[in-house]
Amino acid sequence: MNPPVRVLYLAGSGRSGSTLVTTVLGQYDGVFAAGELRYLWQRGEVENRPCGCGRPLRDCPLWGEVRRELPTDRAAAIAAGLRGRLRMRGLPALLRRHRRGVRPVPAHPDDAALADLYAAVARHTGARVVVDSSKLPPYGALVGALPGIELRVLHLVRDPRATAFSWRRRRGLDGDADPELMSRPPVGKAALLWLVWNTVTVRLWADRAPAGYLRVRYEDLTAEPEATLRRIAAFAGVDPAGGPFTGPATVRLTPTHSVAGNPSRHRTGPVPITADVQWRRDLSRRSYALVTALTVPGLRRFGYPWRRGGPAAASPAGSGSSVAVGSGRSAQVRQPASAGHEEG
Ligand SMILES: [Zn+2]
Repeated sequence: MNPPVRVLYLAGSGRSGSTLVTTVLGQYDGVFAAGELRYLWQRGEVENRPCGCGRPLRDCPLWGEVRRELPTDRAAAIAAGLRGRLRMRGLPALLRRHRRGVRPVPAHPDDAALADLYAAVARHTGARVVVDSSKLPPYGALVGALPGIELRVLHLVRDPRATAFSWRRRRGLDGDADPELMSRPPVGKAALLWLVWNTVTVRLWADRAPAGYLRVRYEDLTAEPEATLRRIAAFAGVDPAGGPFTGPATVRLTPTHSVAGNPSRHRTGPVPITADVQWRRDLSRRSYALVTALTVPGLRRFGYPWRRGGPAAASPAGSGSSVAVGSGRSAQVRQPASAGHEEG
């Protein structure tokens, strides 16, 4: 029997820094930054979209080895099956099963292929930790129930006004030249999705298995990048020595082989880690009010102020640093293209 594959699952809402965290973690020894593995079957296998290394996925030598062990001829059916099993309308039933202590996502014949995927990734990369930034909580629950998986959940949270602003940006799915855009939900929908995914993440893991759960806020991550990544590495069981930091807030990135995710995953070379706070200047008053009203329970839980320019967001007890980013406006505002890790 092989030892279980440790999966660090990045959970929560989109546009919270998961692509940055995945790419940075992928630079440590013994870690493989797999990206959003729930999209491997559709965007990777069926659509042959670029791997993090820049090659179309089916031309990437690393994924070539992994793919040989998978039922790639059934990729489209597996992708469709996943979409069906992870639908939003299944959430109430998923939470009921979780409360009763049974598998939140019922078993399915495709689970063998999914378990094989994680085992093959670990075997061919030699990684002790596989980082999966799929984010969607139901998929994380599904992965955690697969045989041979040891799940640790990193819950990334960001101010919902920032994520709603970020979702509205026009971005190609695989970079600026890609005519297919990343989804752009209206701010009200983005706010509700933020509340749902973050609440479900807490219900699934923070309440039940606190030892396998770590919550990190984007604002704390960007205020103290190196210290925060050290905490994340320790949580994942990764030796923090030899990481990519060349300064407290600068990393040197080499290409990863991540599947799907924000286009910023293709960035390499020296990259400064700073907070993207353009939303503080450019999110309209009306949108701010709408997102705030819709996310009130989450604002309180995760320590974000209601009022614009209100008191600095304080970290909830036990989550470490409490430095807020960008309270002075223009000095820290960056243009969207400059940092490239404003989301993910
Ligand atoms: Zn690759």
